[in-house]
Amino acid sequence: MDFLRPTTWGEALAAKADQPDAVPVQGGTDVMVEINFDRRRPPALLDLNRVAELREWAMVDGACRVGAGVSYAEVIRELGGPLPGLAQAARTVGSPQIRNRGSVGGNLGAASPAGDSHPPLLAAGAAVEVESRARGVRMIPAEEFYLGVKRSALEPDELIRAVHVRPATGPQYFSKIGTRNAMVIAVCSFALALHPGERRVGTGIGSAAPTPRRAPEAEDLLARELDWAAPLDPALAGRFAELCAAAAAPIDDVRGTAAYRVHAIAVMARRTLTWAWNDHLARRAA
Ligand SMILES: Cc1cc2nc3c(=O)[nH]c(=O)nc-3n(C[C@H](O)[C@H](O)[C@H](O)COP(=O)(O)OP(=O)(O)OC[C@H]3O[C@@H](n4cnc5c(N)ncnc54)[C@H](O)[C@@H]3O)c2cc1C
Repeated sequence: MDFLRPTTWGEALAAKADQPDAVPVQGGTDVMVEINFDRRRPPALLDLNRVAELREWAMVDGACRVGAGVSYAEVIRELGGPLPGLAQAARTVGSPQIRNRGSVGGNLGAASPAGDSHPPLLAAGAAVEVESRARGVRMIPAEEFYLGVKRSALEPDELIRAVHVRPATGPQYFSKIGTRNAMVIAVCSFALALHPGERRVGTGIGSAAPTPRRAPEAEDLLARELDWAAPLDPALAGRFAELCAAAAAPIDDVRGTAAYRVHAIAVMARRTLTWAWNDHLARRAA
């Protein structure tokens, strides 16, 4: 197995162009498990750890541009203010060791329906910056990035460079159900982001469909019927929860049944909306 070690982004793109079957490695918390269990035997590994810029984040054109190699620990430490939904999700990932090594870019690269970054990225309306040597940069909206179970819109010669997320303008929440409290892949998860300026609520459903996905009809309902100055109408919250559950398309598997997941999505949707709404009203009153 070849081990490619670029030191710059340009070298990384060139290596991927010359050898599209080389598997990128950032934290290795997915890749190394697959290799250790002999589920994958790639002809080459493309180690991105020497490409320093991937570990950085910055504000670019009003959005947080989070390098693909930024770890969950860094998201928690440095981005809890602008990206509270993503930081909450990061806190639920694995263990301290996994949060130190594992990255948001790696979560996107793996494109598992259960990945914890995806629901908050969908709810916040994030875009994934990918690049190839041949065609340059493409910005892919998060909702167009996930194509199937562990399949993404990334082409074989492309690498993920960063994810762009607008700083929160309202409360955001992430909720995750696991079979225990820590070190657990989500049975299902849900993220919600209030966008008060646009009078809009974003959603993200995890581990309850072949891909992470939004609940567009539930979002439309709130865009039409929410009174942003009033307490939350419990009947409206209930209809929102039902539409979120209806947007899910889960399966029975070792972690939970489809019926349980549908029920749980409704519960998490109602809860996260209620928590976010309480915060929203408190901020208005302050
Ligand atoms: C014990 C344990 C617990 C875990 N718990 C959770 C959890 O609670 N929640 C969760 O979501 N995940 C969990 N994971 C899975 C994993 O930690 C995450 O998916 C993590 O985000 C992967 O990041 P990484 O940097 O380690 O990725 P890597 O393993 O390096 O890569 C993952 C995938 O992304 C690709 N890739 C990496 N970087 C790029 C790039 N720049 N461009 C293109 N492709 C790229 C790789 O080729 C690979 O296919 C867990 C894993 C373990 C081992």
